[in-house]
Amino acid sequence: MRIDILTLFPEMFAGPFDHSIVKRAIENKLVEIHFHNIRDFSKSKHRHVDDYPFGGGSGMVMMLQPIADAIEKLRSERNYDEVIFLSPDGKLFDQPEANRLSLLNNIILLCGHYKGIDERIREHFISLEISIGNYVLSGGELAAAVVCDSIIRLIPGAMSDETSALSDSFQDHLLSAPVYTRPANYKGWKVPEILLSGHEAKIKQWRHEQALKRTQEHRPELLDRITEE
Ligand code: SAH
Repeated sequence: MRIDILTLFPEMFAGPFDHSIVKRAIENKLVEIHFHNIRDFSKSKHRHVDDYPFGGGSGMVMMLQPIADAIEKLRSERNYDEVIFLSPDGKLFDQPEANRLSLLNNIILLCGHYKGIDERIREHFISLEISIGNYVLSGGELAAAVVCDSIIRLIPGAMSDETSALSDSFQDHLLSAPVYTRPANYKGWKVPEILLSGHEAKIKQWRHEQALKRTQEHRPELLDRITEE
């Protein structure tokens, strides 16, 4: 998989991509991530990337030309399955969408800043708009990092125990069951007996019941989605 990230602040990705599963996936060449600084595509004298909004109002708007040129250059080099804009008014990101994106070959992630980007970019280049939640960030970088992390960990080989991604919360519209590790008894706080029994089928059943119970208590609306499908 190849991910091209268009951003004004490529340095913001250093932290999230330099550790743990994502770092290993990059090192093992399961994913290639390429950063493109939108400013490098500016044709204005002072490398401007933003301008005042037509019609007035507060805030600056990211200009069309540098972003259009960046996307066109990338598209002349290869085909992209999705050209994604991170935006608070996009489709709310969830696990099924992460699963779908993790199977694609080439994607572009465009990070907005300021008031957002010139609407014509969205009309003419963007195939998918993603929001990571109903709140506003100062830029698309953190959102892009979230999307990348969630899809990269799903690429086969990214996690040492591959089946573990399948038992995560949301994979079957259920939250995951509680987990425990040693010691079995910590100052009188005991691990559920069943988990120490070695009885695989019963443990599986217990975990399913716990997942249902937890979902019922914390996120009952997820259960509606099971019956809808
Ligand atoms: N004026 C815009 C918000 C701009 S925030 C509005 O009200 O919709 C600046 C940039 O941050 C956006 O262009 C987008 O790329 C990113 N961003 C902000 N919140 C986000 C969210 N919840 N999900 C994804 N991207 C977000």
